[in-house]
Amino acid sequence: MSFLNQKYKEIKTYTPGEQPSGFSYLKLNTNESPYPPAPSVIEAVSREVIADLRLYPDPDCNVLRTKLAALYGVSKENIFLANGSDDILNFAFMAFGEGRALFPEISYGFYEVFANLHGVSYTKFPLKEDFSIDYRLFCGREGLVVIANPNAPTGIALSVNEIEEIVKSNPENVVLIDEAYVDFGAESCFPLINRYENLLVVQTFSKSRSMAGARLGFAIGSKALISDLEKIKYSTNPYNINRMTLAAGEATVDENDYYMENCRKIIEAREYTVSRLSSLGFHVLPSTCNFIFAKTDSMIGADLYRKLKENGILVRHFDREKIQDYNRITIGTKEQMERFTKVIETIIGGKDENK
Ligand SMILES: *Cc1c(COP(=O)(O)O)cnc(C)c1O
Repeated sequence: MSFLNQKYKEIKTYTPGEQPSGFSYLKLNTNESPYPPAPSVIEAVSREVIADLRLYPDPDCNVLRTKLAALYGVSKENIFLANGSDDILNFAFMAFGEGRALFPEISYGFYEVFANLHGVSYTKFPLKEDFSIDYRLFCGREGLVVIANPNAPTGIALSVNEIEEIVKSNPENVVLIDEAYVDFGAESCFPLINRYENLLVVQTFSKSRSMAGARLGFAIGSKALISDLEKIKYSTNPYNINRMTLAAGEATVDENDYYMENCRKIIEAREYTVSRLSSLGFHVLPSTCNFIFAKTDSMIGADLYRKLKENGILVRHFDREKIQDYNRITIGTKEQMERFTKVIETIIGGKDENK
């Protein structure tokens, strides 16, 4: 017996990475930050804030929007906030997916899930041989264009010029650029919103700002696009960001330097990991993210995933055509990545020429 509406019966859900409880793994599987929130952020979620939980939060998120607007040099009306960037992606498919949607064949799995959920027909464009996005495929199209930049799980970024070509050549459609990982070495295209009304840039507090557990994402776009998203939000759940998350988010924006310094450390640990893995014979895609996508000829991807798990380390393996040889490895602290590479060394029994 099923009471589910017919249109949802065949729905394919998103599969989140494992969040194990009990045994403590070195978690390199869901691209969280290895660093805690800044001390002032922890303080900001005060007893007073908790006592005020009896009251609804500000649906307009005035304080946080104003702070973010100042940080990015845009106006408050260019900022939209939601319960994680997944929430924004959901709204965007609802708001702008009427025609159809276009996204890369290998990308963030949620795009296809939201398209299916909202009955949006879609086309997936293949990546180039080297796993980069062929931006030309997305130029002059019809439908909502959705691109993760840098792309996940490959880690490879398009340039702002290439993004601009896509945006410029699609004046009739919304182009959504998902910049979840942009703080780890790529360039944000948000300044283009001043010239292109159809560009929506989506970012998150989950990766570079150590707040995956609080659920906070934001979009930067023209006032017209932001007000369209507000329409959907005020028709579904105006209170989608709770008081504790708002307080933490506000304090986080005030501590921008702390978070950018963490990103710098993660980039350093990434370079270290890439060079160690390369000397162990791994093929690693060029990443500007807090993860790398890597494979070795000495073992299939699923086996490496399993062996790492046996050794207390979780990474992400996608059992999907074209990428099943690879594993996606989140970059932690330098110490964590030293431990990781040591375990890799024992698993593949490889000789490191640099040692
Ligand atoms: C992690 C991730 C998200 C989701 O982020 P939340 O803000 O935690 O919902 C969105 N897009 C991409 C590409 C991601 O990797």
